[in-house]
Amino acid sequence: MGDMSQIRNIVILTGAGISAESGIETFRSAGGLWENHRVEDVATPEAFARDPNLVLRFYDMRREAIQDKQPNPAHFALAKLEERWPGKLLLVTQNVDDLHERSGSRRVLHMHGEHLNAWCTSCDVRSRWTGPLFDRPPCSVCSARSLRPDVVWFGEMPYRMGEIYAALREADLFVSIGTSGAVYPAAGFVQNAVELGAQTLELNLERSQGSHMFHESRLGPASQVVPHWVGEMLR
Ligand code: NAD
Repeated sequence: MGDMSQIRNIVILTGAGISAESGIETFRSAGGLWENHRVEDVATPEAFARDPNLVLRFYDMRREAIQDKQPNPAHFALAKLEERWPGKLLLVTQNVDDLHERSGSRRVLHMHGEHLNAWCTSCDVRSRWTGPLFDRPPCSVCSARSLRPDVVWFGEMPYRMGEIYAALREADLFVSIGTSGAVYPAAGFVQNAVELGAQTLELNLERSQGSHMFHESRLGPASQVVPHWVGEMLR
């Protein structure tokens, strides 16, 4: 890595790996399978059209499961960095859990949506939702029974890409944490950052598909490598 004293603006991308030690399975550790369905087959608009009960049940279980999980030291370290960092810091997450918020991070951009939101496809309003959707509850705004998980499925456009690319253009450092680098467009952020002249750092359990694109990769569990890196940044 280059001269760290020149770093002002930071963009951090997190993936399922940062929540793994909180007991939320990553894609890979789940074997990409759920009750004999490939995850891709329950996480597409086509799957929802074909078998809405299956998809709603899948997300109801995951929505319920995240609510008794707790943030781990990696989430807390990023919240501390945000609080103390003198420059700009944007936390972009592919995760749909709320562990960043629960550890105290304030500026979190959920590019793939949130488990604890429902999206009404009738009135287009998104609202906080902690219970099941399987029984087709009415939207609290328009009463239509048209709620779906507010999660970006394969083939759908991730949220707030304009804001993310704007932050990348200003970034002096791009850090990717616990993501396999397999899901685009997030997997392409490192290349954007490099082309724009930023330093790039990967923190991951093991080398990922995109590891070779980073100036530096540090391997290890997020609960250890993330607090260590944050300690260096705040030294
Ligand atoms: P992924 O499952 O494809 O990859 C997980 C990555 O985390 C791997 O590179 C793995 O090496 C790493 N990892 C595993 N344990 C780790 C640990 N203890 N410390 C550090 N790294 C660890 O996940 P992805 O790249 O985020 O992409 C999959 C998609 O699935 C995303 O779009 C995401 O929205 C979704 N997803 C979200 C959650 C969640 O919200 N917690 C969980 C599973 C999947």
